[in-house]
Amino acid sequence: MTGDHDEIMPVVTTDVNRERDELRLALENIMASQQPVALITLDVNKFRDFNLTLGHEMGDAILHHVRNRLRRLLRKDDRLYRIGDDEFAIVLKPVLSRDHAQIAINKLEDLLARPIDVDGDRVTVSASVGAAFFPDSARDANELLRQSQFALYLAKEGSDFHVVYDPQLEGQQDAIRNLAIGLKQALDRNALELKYQPIVEISDSRIAHVEALIRWYDPDKGRISPLQLVRVAEQTGLIRPLTNWVLNTALRECGEFSNLKISVNLSVLNLDDPELVELVKRSLSTWRVAPRRLCLEVTETAMMADPDRNQGVLQELSQLGVELSIDDFGSGYSSLQYLKRLPVHNIKIDREFVSEIGNEDGDTRIVEAVTQLGHSFGLTVIAEGVEDAASLGVLQRLGCDMAQGFHLSRPIPLDALSELLPHQLPAA
Ligand code: C2E
Ligand code: MG
Ligand code: MG
Repeated sequence: MTGDHDEIMPVVTTDVNRERDELRLALENIMASQQPVALITLDVNKFRDFNLTLGHEMGDAILHHVRNRLRRLLRKDDRLYRIGDDEFAIVLKPVLSRDHAQIAINKLEDLLARPIDVDGDRVTVSASVGAAFFPDSARDANELLRQSQFALYLAKEGSDFHVVYDPQLEGQQDAIRNLAIGLKQALDRNALELKYQPIVEISDSRIAHVEALIRWYDPDKGRISPLQLVRVAEQTGLIRPLTNWVLNTALRECGEFSNLKISVNLSVLNLDDPELVELVKRSLSTWRVAPRRLCLEVTETAMMADPDRNQGVLQELSQLGVELSIDDFGSGYSSLQYLKRLPVHNIKIDREFVSEIGNEDGDTRIVEAVTQLGHSFGLTVIAEGVEDAASLGVLQRLGCDMAQGFHLSRPIPLDALSELLPHQLPAA
């Protein structure tokens, strides 16, 4: 029953408030004697899901196992407190350096990674951790607790296992909040813009496909890079409205160019959104665009982060009739097993391998191998980041199907696309 030797403790309701007070008192005493201390706070991820799916008794039992594991970390003078339903605090004392606390955090990660056996069920628990130090940044117990919990919050937001508090993080968080407010207003006022980058058929230089790329110019902050914008949207719950805006704008603006395929990028968080499929369906029907003309790009890293979990939503999207591309292929790790199983149509070779293809023998071989691999799975292979005619020539020789890059065209506004579409682009 307890395969990993966790002793089962009777399920008792811990007095969280009392433990919180005890923690505060302990910190005040330590600080009064000027001893260096690290305060680690830890929160079990998605604990509410355990309670909902497995029941409260099981939830309590899991927390007891977690608590027992945390105890194993403690040295003689370290202390453990439960300060929230699924939140714990560990006081490490003395702490000789930050490295010392880091070792404890690494150990914590190892301890928690092992599955827990509760009444014959194997449960894997993940957690996020924040750490703050006295006397480095905090002056009193409340401040130390707030800083450690702030670091914990950032760890949760950024999907890191742990974050160590640093005063600079507060400034960054303010900047993110500021950008999020600006982004929300820009979405409400329709002040964002899309540019379209042609993706060209290598055999005949035809533009059969464009990729929609978000652009945001803020009057106060200037141009904000797409990657930064997407990151802010991901961190502040704005990714759904942003994706919805991009999808609808791209389909509205490009719908009328008959047969043109339109790529839209998805964030990893979109794949977790239960409304994504409905959102895609609705935008296609609103703008009366045939599903086969929409292509959704997901980066290799996002797709392979949890391929089993993503398979369902990708399958549903594919059943709608839309195409799926693995973006930035080669920058992450793909298992061939999943390449076979996931319903993808295109792979886009990361520009890191393409931009030097004329000069770098290694890159040429990688692109050749990926092209052959893609073709053997029946996929269309697109090379990103084609910056000169020589590279395009090499790609043609290697049998790559399509190319995208500054040599062919930079991302351009809609009116320029309308002018360009009837014309041919530079050939190899
Ligand atoms: P991506 O999807 O891989 O898009 C291609 C990026 O490469 C674009 O950068 C494009 O401007 C750039 N690029 C194209 N050809 C060349 C070239 O020849 N040389 C070089 N050096 N760069 C080239 P951009 O527009 O800055 O977008 C960066 C990333 O931001 C995109 O990478 C995509 O991951 C993300 N992104 C952009 N728009 C959206 C969006 O609407 N939604 C989401 N979720 N992500 C977006
Ligand atoms: Mg893309
Ligand atoms: Mg890409």
